[in-house]
Amino acid sequence: MPQPIVKIKDLDITYNLGKENEFKATRGVSMEVYPGEFVAFFGPSGCGKSTIFYSILGILEPSAGQLLVKGENPYSFSPEEMVRFQTKIIGIVYQAFYLITSLSVIDNVVLPQIFHGVNPGKRRRWAKQVLKRFGMEEHGDKYPDNLSGGQSQRVSVARAMVNNPNILLADEPTGNLDSTSTKQVMDSMAEINSVDKKTVIMITHNAAQLSYCHRVFYLRDGKLERVVPNPEKKQIAKIDKHKILITEFDQLSKLFPYEDPITLKVKSLVNYLTQDLNYYQLQRLEDIIKLVVERKISQKEFKSLVMKNYNQGGIDLTESLAAHMSEKIYKIIRQSEDIRRFRRRFLNSNFFSRENVLVRNLAKFVMDEYKKELSLVQRRRLKDLVYKRITGLISRRDFKDALRVELPDGGVGLGKVWSRKLTRYFEKLLMQGTDSKGHH
Ligand code: ADP
Repeated sequence: MPQPIVKIKDLDITYNLGKENEFKATRGVSMEVYPGEFVAFFGPSGCGKSTIFYSILGILEPSAGQLLVKGENPYSFSPEEMVRFQTKIIGIVYQAFYLITSLSVIDNVVLPQIFHGVNPGKRRRWAKQVLKRFGMEEHGDKYPDNLSGGQSQRVSVARAMVNNPNILLADEPTGNLDSTSTKQVMDSMAEINSVDKKTVIMITHNAAQLSYCHRVFYLRDGKLERVVPNPEKKQIAKIDKHKILITEFDQLSKLFPYEDPITLKVKSLVNYLTQDLNYYQLQRLEDIIKLVVERKISQKEFKSLVMKNYNQGGIDLTESLAAHMSEKIYKIIRQSEDIRRFRRRFLNSNFFSRENVLVRNLAKFVMDEYKKELSLVQRRRLKDLVYKRITGLISRRDFKDALRVELPDGGVGLGKVWSRKLTRYFEKLLMQGTDSKGHH
């Protein structure tokens, strides 16, 4: 595996160090991001996402610990090296775009190249090409004030990428956008990651965007609480199972979220199970797993099939690897059957497939027990929380806390007693859905 492109170890960042209002914004954060990964910093407001983000960008010096980007400590750079670092190694996209309104779109995109001695003709040609790449070529002569939010953000993505940096940092890039523009911007970033093979580090509040990421760094109170890999994506980082808190349920809900076509299940399982197989082995494994998903072969047959050599329809696995793989895959299949049984039995297969149904159930519970109608805003927040909890991104405690927090502070405003009751009820629903014990 390659060296991490960003390596952070025991990072402490303290604001106003030594003063009366000293504040430790991050404590002992360690993380590694690998070249080609798309990762998110995720967590409630004030948890330290921006603090870490800006320290990677080279503008917020760690108070303690180690921070390396491409193997170098940005805080050891001379001013010239820092400019190069911030314009050539890193591209950045902000929620508020930060385009220069007195310059045309194309000049905004030209700007970052000026530091690198590219000649003016070439700069313009290149800026045009990048604008075209992000679907903005016709708007080059406009001024930022005449662009929509989505267009502005695509321009700022073009500006961030114009020097072909290794890392794209995006600070809530879709925070100001409607859903159509959000999708366009997210797709652009996904393309920058998957086609251009750039590392993308994004701050987001929006759980729905986490599906774009390989891994999610979940922060809370200045600490890295957990790292959640996305089983739908082939991982770049080596996942240390002991360090990652991911429940069976989290895995299952991502592996088999809705009534997916079989091919998707097969791909998820292949992604989940393999690290080191070659292309032909992977292809063959897909065929074999399809038989498993369709319940056409038993665990024993699976094991002996994958051990056979390639010409006999197998993939040449050693006995121990075959045993390991067959155990894992059949465990998942059994558990997913539990979920499916549950769905049929209780909720006509709509339980996990529609957060809305779940939200409606919860709202009804509040109504029946509490004699209180939830407002539209409360429902929307509740839905977001349900989504995050189902996908394993927040803990039971986070869920409860967010229910309790007052509306103006971004919570659902249910008060202490009712957030506890509703959380308990909701967790019961979840447990019934997984039939697996021991997660929280
Ligand atoms: P997030 O991006 O997750 O919302 P931040 O990294 O911005 O969180 O902030 C983490 C904590 O540090 C918050 O409690 C915030 O109030 C505090 N903080 C942020 N910037 C400063 C600053 N310049 N001075 C003092 N405290 C700050």
